[in-house]
This record gives sequence, C-alpha cells and structure tokens, in this order.
Amino acid sequence: MINETMYARGAESSVIREIFSYANERKAQIGEENVFDFSLGNPSVPAPDAVRASIERSLALPPEQLHGYTPAPGLPAARQAVADSLNRRFGTSYGSADIFMTVGAAASVSCALHAIACPGEEVIVIAPYFPEYRVWIETAGATCVEVPASPETFQIDVAAVQAAITPRTAAVIIDSPNNPTGVVYPRENLEALAAALEAANARREEELGHAQPIVLISDEPYREITYGAEVPWVPSLYEHTIVCYSYSKSLSLPGERIGWVLVPQVSEGARRVMCAVAGAARCLGFVCAPALFQRAIIDCVDEPSDVEAYARNRDMLCSALKRFGYTYVEPDGAFYLWVRSPDPDAEAFCERARTYELLPVPSNSFGVTGWLRVGYCVAAEVIERSLPAWERLAEEYGLLER
Ligand code: PLP
Repeated sequence: MINETMYARGAESSVIREIFSYANERKAQIGEENVFDFSLGNPSVPAPDAVRASIERSLALPPEQLHGYTPAPGLPAARQAVADSLNRRFGTSYGSADIFMTVGAAASVSCALHAIACPGEEVIVIAPYFPEYRVWIETAGATCVEVPASPETFQIDVAAVQAAITPRTAAVIIDSPNNPTGVVYPRENLEALAAALEAANARREEELGHAQPIVLISDEPYREITYGAEVPWVPSLYEHTIVCYSYSKSLSLPGERIGWVLVPQVSEGARRVMCAVAGAARCLGFVCAPALFQRAIIDCVDEPSDVEAYARNRDMLCSALKRFGYTYVEPDGAFYLWVRSPDPDAEAFCERARTYELLPVPSNSFGVTGWLRVGYCVAAEVIERSLPAWERLAEEYGLLER
C-alpha cells in the first residue's frame, strides 16, 4: 500500500529544486564556472564567525547534554533569547512561552497552518507566492485561495483580499520582504490589510455569533535582509498574527534547520493556538529543533546579516539588466529579482536561457505567468560571468533595440 497523495507530492518535486539539480549536473559536466544557477535561495554569504565560536563552545559540553533531546518547544534559554531580542527591537514584552523553536520556516509555517486551519477551510495567499505554501495548506486539508498582488507594485491588493474572504477563511499568509518579488510591504499596506481583517472578523461575529478570527500568518525569513525599507512588526498592527521565522537566510544556516513560531500569549484564544502549534509539531514529527543550533541562537540571536554583499549583487544585476533592456521590480528586500520574461511564456524563455547555461526560475510555480525569479544570493562572480548570456538573450528577444 502506498499513500497516493504523498507519492504525488514526492513525484512532482519542486521546480526550483529540479533546476538546482539540473545546475549541479551541468556543473559536473562542464565545470562550475560555466553554469549560472539563479534557482535556489541558498545564501552564498558565510554564516557569521560568532556561529562557529558558539558551536565550538557547545562542543565542550558533556556529550549527553550536547546531543540530548531538548524540551519539545525548545530550550527555555533559546526561547527567552528570541523573545528578548524581539522585545529590544520592537518594544514588545514577549516571554519564552510565546516562542516555539522549529526546524526552519518550513516547519514554522506548516505547524502554524495545521494549528489553525481545519479541513474544508480556506487560506489566502498573495500571488505570486512561495510555492510550498500550497503544499502545506493542502496537506492541512485546507484550500489554497490565490489573490493576485497589485499589478506593477506587487503590494497586497487589500480590496481583492477582502473580496476573497468567505465564512470558511481561516488565515491569510503574507511574506515580507517577499519571495519571489523582493517587495517589502509598506506600513500603510499592512494597516489596510489589518483593518480589512478586523472588519471581516466583526462581520463574522455579528452574523455567526461567536466566531474564530482570521489569523494572519506572517512568514518572515527575510526580515533582516532589506536595503533601507522599514519592515513593520506585524503583531503590533493585527492582534491575531502568528510570526514564522528561520535563521536560514539571516544567519546563512539553511541546512541546519532552525527557526521559530511566535504566538503572542495575549488571550485565552492565543494560548489555545500555541497549544495547537505544539500539537501540530507533535503530529508532524517536528518536536525538538536541532539542539546545537538552538544553543547557537542563544549566542547569535542579534548577529547582523551581511546585507552589504546582497546589496552589491542587487546593484550589479539590476544595472546590467536595465542596460540590456529587461524590466523588473526594484527589490527592497530579500535576494530575488523579479524580472518580466521577454517571452510571455516564461518557461519557454527559461528553456532558451538553458542553452546559455543561464538558470532563472519561471514564474508559473509561483502562481503567475510571464515572470522570472532570479536569486542573486550567489557569489558576485556568478552574476558577473552570467552577464554576456543575459545580453545575448536580450539581443535574441529584441530588447536592446527598444
Ligand atoms: N518561506 C519562504 C518565503 C521561503 O523563501 C523559504 C525558503 O526559501 C521558507 C519559507 C522555508 O525556509 P526554511 O529553509 O527555513 O525552512
């Protein structure tokens, strides 16, 4: 016997990972320096030295302590360190009980979804969106409802979200700084969303008596990677917010699988949600995030990200692509450039780009057509060496003459 749903998930694979595997094959065939892989959000910036120092300190612990299980929600000191860091930055008063340590943002969002969405309910995503959201939403038994972002700005189209809300809406997921567009949602945009959700909650209460509020899941693995834009603290704008975070991008630790879920314990309802997050982690087998990296977070929670390296890459890529005639969304954060595909069929463009060993991701799996995601978290030399290929493609598509 086999679970066909799980089989299908395994067999379909992610387009991003398929391109990443193809890039690795090509690198083995023709040399690493000849392949321009812009697929995966795998930071090329090294983890800070403080992470290594912390690991070395941990290695001096007795092995049974070093390698032992931690409590299911994480080490109390790690949870408190995260809460203290948030309090310093956002003027909040969180405690360890508000934080559940997880196995990266994938687990954070999965646990949050399983905690608050019931089979038959709906979860709204803003398209384009991180493709795994659909997988996690559907695995929780809910329906993924795509709401297109505002054209041109790619901010949240609040009127469209409002129109998509039904009595079955359990949650809205937002992700700012955004993967894949690089847009940071401005405060006014988030305030408008919060007001729309409050209004919907009030309507529900009026029409249905006591009703569950719509939860806002704010997935924030790129919070620290911005180029000057303010990233508002979402729970201060909307009470029913769950923040999902990971250190995969900010501390360049994607393979170590460490992050957290924040559910501010402001009400009996919120305490029940945190209990459900713990239950989801239990059911999904995510209890006890990696102990070594929980300790690293205690030591490195406030380590800054090396945003400068990404800023240099962004500037080099943007100025070259502009010169070649490409159009794109000016990125305010994360490390992705959202480029209009010169071919309305982005998959066809990516096929043609492959002949130059150039590997962006077509937008189709992000829920929209006609765009490309270019992950510029690569080494600067990769961007530099890729420019002739971008230029030749621009010539082929007649961008340069415009
Ligand atoms: N959410 C978004 C928006 C992401 O871009 C990613 C990874 O790229 C994740 C979640 C998953 O992060 P993690 O690797 O920490 O599980």
